[in-house]
Amino acid sequence: MMSQSNIKQIARQRIDILFGQAKKTAPSNPTLAAVYVESARRIAMAARIRLPLEFRRETCRECNALFRYGINCRVRVKQKREPHVVVTCLNCGHYTRYMLRKKVRKAIDQDNDKNEAPC
Ligand SMILES: [Zn+2]
Repeated sequence: MMSQSNIKQIARQRIDILFGQAKKTAPSNPTLAAVYVESARRIAMAARIRLPLEFRRETCRECNALFRYGINCRVRVKQKREPHVVVTCLNCGHYTRYMLRKKVRKAIDQDNDKNEAPC
């Protein structure tokens, strides 16, 4: 029987592969790229692991689109109050905000995990 840490390790590898595939596919076939992103998300949920930061920053949580800067997403850096970044998905209009300060960013990530936890 496989140990829990083995399962997580395999899940991480598969997520890496799928994310890589999504990046390769996105320019020619964004729909297929979104399928890869969705599969990676499912694997992470099933294995109960966090998606890599890069993955969370570069994909849309709403429609699973892989962000390609200047093409299907808009990135704005706001300096008001706390410096933060707003990423808008031009595919579905969903936007994500994250703080640039480390402490705050950690809190947001934990929040995201709550939302992504399997039902
Ligand atoms: Zn979207």
